[in-house]
Amino acid sequence: MPHNSVRAPRKRLVVATSSPGKLREFRTLLQDLPFDIVSQGELGVVAPQETGYTFLDNAMLKARHAARATNFAAIADDSGLEVDALGGAPGVYSARYAGVGADDARNNAKLLAALGAIPAASRSARYRCVLVFLAGPDDPAPLSAEGTWEGVILPVPRGSGGFGYDPYFWLPDLHMTAAELDPTDKNRLSHRGVALRALCGLLAARERMAASYGRVR
Ligand code: IMP
Repeated sequence: MPHNSVRAPRKRLVVATSSPGKLREFRTLLQDLPFDIVSQGELGVVAPQETGYTFLDNAMLKARHAARATNFAAIADDSGLEVDALGGAPGVYSARYAGVGADDARNNAKLLAALGAIPAASRSARYRCVLVFLAGPDDPAPLSAEGTWEGVILPVPRGSGGFGYDPYFWLPDLHMTAAELDPTDKNRLSHRGVALRALCGLLAARERMAASYGRVR
């Protein structure tokens, strides 16, 4: 770039998560967009209660909370596991399936008990992730994107990677669980990776449109 060229100031984007793993994924996938990325945890923003009934409700309330607290653009996700034989449970309650504060082991134990002796052919499930982007606390036109990842719930765990329900989430095409996948492959294939790439496409289109109108938001 020539010395005398003028570079537009980069906007700050707060990621509404305190999870270092999720922040790493967001930083990698958003690296080509003109934002300086910071997590709400780094800024001391405490996560709000997830009181919504849908993934979209929760992603929206988390993004709005982070944007209001910081006055930056914000991005938030909400995700969970939907098991067909359980009518879509645990769904939005995935993190607290076995009760508020329950850890992965308790949530997985409850899931296995709920599925009981249901055969493999009827243990289909998917992870779902919904993302919301707000250009600022009062953005009247939020962007949202969704990703899903299909699998089958095993009766016994396999692998030690990932988190949450991953040791039981069998990927028939790959012949392994999500907990046996290399993290780079998980980012590429997972519900969050799919949703993030879709959101990046929407964001890039919005940035191009704003630039072509010469507007600064
Ligand atoms: P949240 O999106 O941080 O609210 O997470 C919801 C919950 O869904 C997590 O605590 C996990 O139990 C589950 N979950 C979401 N994504 C994944 C994943 O990639 N692997 C395993 N569990 C997940």
